This record gives sequence, structure tokens and C-alpha cells, in this order.
Amino acid sequence: MKLIFLGTGHGVPEKDRYCSSALLFVNGLYYMIDCGAPAADLLVRHGISYNDIRSVFITHRHADHTFGLTRMLDLANWYYKTASFDVYMTEQKGVDAMRAVVLTCEDFFCDDRLRLHTFEAGKFYTDNNISVTAVPTNHFNGVHPSYSLIIDILSGTDAGKRIIFTGDLHHGDASDFPAAACTGFSSAVICELVHFGIPAAMEQWEKCRTERLFVSHYAQKYVSDPECSANLGSALSSLPFAAGIVHDGEEYEI
Ligand SMILES: [Zn+2]
Ligand SMILES: [Zn+2]
Repeated sequence: MKLIFLGTGHGVPEKDRYCSSALLFVNGLYYMIDCGAPAADLLVRHGISYNDIRSVFITHRHADHTFGLTRMLDLANWYYKTASFDVYMTEQKGVDAMRAVVLTCEDFFCDDRLRLHTFEAGKFYTDNNISVTAVPTNHFNGVHPSYSLIIDILSGTDAGKRIIFTGDLHHGDASDFPAAACTGFSSAVICELVHFGIPAAMEQWEKCRTERLFVSHYAQKYVSDPECSANLGSALSSLPFAAGIVHDGEEYEI
């Protein structure tokens, strides 16, 4: 299984990071987790065929997780005509907006190939390769839905492995960090680090039972400010598992 970080940013343009989007490559198929721009273009840059994308999961409605999807759907609609995938979003108005954008540019939308859904808490997706369980988070203080995603691998040599994406968490304290990352064992946890500081993050990370922690969607200061970078580096190196920040374009075997 491969974990690919197309974009590791958090919505504010930076010189070397695009908005958040990651892919899991499992048994020959790609599963996308969040679709910040320009994910549609980065797929091609990584040599990934739209034909090999099975499903797209969006953790919440913010633009840095969704705006790549408009172009991806548009391209799959009129150009990559053999593409066929499911997209799961948190709100019906997001689904409606995606269709509306495509229909503003073209006169048709291929609903049979580009299947848009909403999802709620609990296990909402299962195919031959994976299941996906949504755990509610409090990123919007209860006003809008947001989720962490637990992805369980069901078949092949990676069967039994679990990957957890935190999605964006509660401002200030990360109090909604997914408990599943601490109560059960996972092969990897992918956590954000922009809505809270290192102490709040460490309170959660120290409880994690995982093989590896990937910090993505982090504040730019952890790269640009030497003191912040050193503080994060020493915090991560104190954890009893591999942990580090990730950069755009990186790929990892899990
Ligand atoms: Zn975000
Ligand atoms: Zn957000």
C-alpha cells in the first residue's frame, strides 16, 4: 500500500505547498482523501490515470479540501471519458454545488460515471479493498459536519492494516482528535497541525498507538521559522513511533 501526499497545505497560498489532498494506493486502485486544488493536475503530474481512481472522500466542506474537485469532476466529465468513481461529501449543498459548477461549464453531467454522495457518521463505504468509517469532529463547533476517516484494508497483502486521517480538528485544543487512534493499533495516522499548537497536539499524539505519524496540513511556521521547526522536531522525535512532517509530492510505503 502506498500513501501519496499531493498537497500538504492548509488553504493559504505558499511557495512550495498546494492545498490538502492525499491518496491511498491499495491493490491497484487509488482512494483520494480530500481534494484541495490543484489535485486534478497533480494526479497527472504523478502519472496517475483517472481510470484508476475508485473513490474520493472529503472530510469537510472547506475550500482547501474541496476546490480541486470541481476541476477533477469537470475533466472526468468531458475529457477522461472512461473515468468512473464515487465521491463522498459531508453536505448535500456541496454535492449540488459541484454538479452546478460542472453544468455551468458544460451542458451535461455524467451521473452514471461520476457518482456523488453524502455520508454521515459510522461505516459508510465498503468495497473489495477497503472500508471507511467516519468519526465526527468538532471543526465547525457543531454548525457543519466534519469527520476523521478510519480506513481499514480488507484484502491483499495489506489486509488488516488501518490508516487514520484526522481531517481538520477543533480550533485551539484538538479535543476531537479521533479516539480510535489511541484505543486501537494503526499503521499510520495523518494529523493536521494548523488549528492548535504543539502542546495540544502532543497531548493526543502521546496516546497514539500507531506505527507512524505523518503531520500534514501544518502551519508554515514549522518550516519557515527555525525555532518553531526545532520545537516540532524535538516533540516528534520524543514519540515512541516514527513521526515527521510531510511535503508535497512525497510517497510512502505503508
Ligand atoms: Zn483545512
Ligand atoms: Zn477546515
